[in-house]
Amino acid sequence: MLFSKARLIRHSGLLLAALSLISPPIISAWAQEADEAYVVSAADAGAQQIESTISPSDNSVSPAENNSTTDAIEVDNSAAESDITTPPFTLLNQTIQPGQFRTLYWSPGQSFASIDTPVPVLVAHGKEAGPSVCLTAAVHGDELNGIEMVRRLMYQLEPANMNGTVIGVPIVNLDGFRRGSRYLADRRDLNRHFPGTYNGSAASRIANSLFSNIIRDHCNFLVDLHTGSLKRTNLPQIRADLSNEAVFEFSRHLGGITVLHGRGGEGTLRRAATDIGIPAITLESGGPNALEESAVDGGVKALETLLQNLDIQPTLRFWGTPQPVFYHSEWVRADQGGILMSEVTLGDKIKAGDILGRVVDPVTNTGSDIVSPIDGKILGMAFNQVVQTGFAAYHIGKAKTPEQAQEEAQEEAQDEAIQTQPQGKVQGNSQNIPSQPATNESDSSTGPMKSMPTAEDDIDFEANNTTSERSSENAE
Ligand SMILES: [Zn+2]
Repeated sequence: MLFSKARLIRHSGLLLAALSLISPPIISAWAQEADEAYVVSAADAGAQQIESTISPSDNSVSPAENNSTTDAIEVDNSAAESDITTPPFTLLNQTIQPGQFRTLYWSPGQSFASIDTPVPVLVAHGKEAGPSVCLTAAVHGDELNGIEMVRRLMYQLEPANMNGTVIGVPIVNLDGFRRGSRYLADRRDLNRHFPGTYNGSAASRIANSLFSNIIRDHCNFLVDLHTGSLKRTNLPQIRADLSNEAVFEFSRHLGGITVLHGRGGEGTLRRAATDIGIPAITLESGGPNALEESAVDGGVKALETLLQNLDIQPTLRFWGTPQPVFYHSEWVRADQGGILMSEVTLGDKIKAGDILGRVVDPVTNTGSDIVSPIDGKILGMAFNQVVQTGFAAYHIGKAKTPEQAQEEAQEEAQDEAIQTQPQGKVQGNSQNIPSQPATNESDSSTGPMKSMPTAEDDIDFEANNTTSERSSENAE
């Protein structure tokens, strides 16, 4: 089973506990039933929800009295009670009946109570038992594609014909979103502070509030939606800790999407969730400050496939390549500063020696080509812009089998465990332990290949407390 028995018992009571004890064929039988009952009326459902949602300012519960729950607007689309087989779902002190879709409000307590704006939380609780999937978007306030992905996915759900529960938080960092900023008001990156603490910095408290009120006890699975950051864009792809068996299995449920291994930096939501046993991945698609149809659609398709594979709700969409494609990836950097103009686009297949783009000094009119050192596919790239020497411009992936990708991830995890072992416990003289090579982004002396970060280098400079200054190209 993909989700642990212990978690299910804790989350959803006896019926879900029973789910963990039964065999996959029985779950398939549920899926078949759901198939038969499935009616496409997403547009109707969406219209109904939008009309039914009223302003959170009608809320009468003070955030000071109740930090986690403010208001809940009930939508009367509950199923007939006669054949309900799953208990109600409780979230943010509200009860969602089987077959219901509701909009709740989470108040992270970012400001003083009188102007604090609660964050909407959409919940679809299926009539039948099943796992709960949580979707979080705009943890970085300028990453818009995920917001639209959550909307499209949530408003096509049909709780009356669904198994399990889907929770969508479309705009986690509402404060940054309003300002068009990746960061919180204090310039901190929220995705470096999970799971957070109740008495820490503002960022840490917000992280703690989300994590303890929504994520920790209500999600069997988590997908955190992001885009490329800092003027870069990504092909739809997931980042997952493939050394973790449950996460590896989870990563195979999203159809023919690109999968990159990465443990996730300290403080990222997905790492904090994975650390407490919730299989979590990041879904990256497109770039910041933009709403891109292909990026949104690619992400939604992957999420629909996930819900189908978890037997929550079937999808009518198909993949040309139904299985995920695992990649080992490398960044290629600019060897001179200037104006970067690309010759390739996202998704292009390239060969070693191909010209990816050109950097030109606008004053001296001298330039140089950026050449791919390997065969592969463009999984991520920088927008045309002014760059400095050493700037990571193209993220190139080389396909691997799932087994190869998992094996490499496990080897890397073992290496990491050895390297992070307390020195006193390492056999022999600890002074003989070689220091970890620095992967400083500005260090171009080793050439473009040798200093390249890979997908696992998700640690942003701000959160980094290790000896090496890691890059932020893959910041999520
Ligand atoms: Zn992000």
